[in-house]
Amino acid sequence: MISGRNGTRSAVVIGAGIGGLTAAVALRRIGWEVTVVERAPVISEVGAGLTLWPNAIRALGVLGLESAVAVHAIPTVSRGNIRQPDGRWLRHGRADDVGVLAIHRAQLHEVLRGALPERSVRTGAEVVGGTTGTGGPVPNSSPEPPDSRTHATPTTAPSLMP
Ligand SMILES: Cc1cc2nc3c(=O)[nH]c(=O)nc-3n(C[C@H](O)[C@H](O)[C@H](O)COP(=O)(O)OP(=O)(O)OC[C@H]3O[C@@H](n4cnc5c(N)ncnc54)[C@H](O)[C@@H]3O)c2cc1C
Repeated sequence: MISGRNGTRSAVVIGAGIGGLTAAVALRRIGWEVTVVERAPVISEVGAGLTLWPNAIRALGVLGLESAVAVHAIPTVSRGNIRQPDGRWLRHGRADDVGVLAIHRAQLHEVLRGALPERSVRTGAEVVGGTTGTGGPVPNSSPEPPDSRTHATPTTAPSLMP
């Protein structure tokens, strides 16, 4: 994270998976400038279905994406309650839970990606290190060859440092 002279805060999010894209959307919603750096040359979320639990659905709702997700999702079990083998509740949904949804990973990814400006996501750039400081992140421009290397400069040392 860095702060610009005009008070704008910027962040580099490493990885354009569901987690990274969600974090980027959330930061933009509160006014941050965000760059998502993805090492894959092309963003393609593989895999099959994903279950969205009520907490995930609530989080997507806070981001204003609940309806976009609902277009692609189908309801599964009612509230996703889980019992232990002895019958006691391990998890019991809240009264306002909307239930549990199933969605194809690629579609959730597409919804999240679509909530960010094109310029916010840079592919083919791998973050290989970082330093502690207030300098700006230096992501490579997209498109980049898959072996390009990006050095981020967050205010806290990233756990992904080699
Ligand atoms: C079989 C299976 C079923 C699952 N089912 C469910 C489910 O039903 N419901 C549910 O909620 N969760 C489920 N999960 C978990 C869920 O898929 C993960 O928690 C989620 O996808 C993680 O997203 P992520 O963005 O954190 O990580 P990832 O999807 O791993 O994305 C990380 C991204 O970061 C990029 N990256 C990594 N390092 C760098 C770097 N140094 N520089 C640049 N880019 C980098 C990678 O290329 C990748 O694109 C399941 C997982 C599996 C394996």
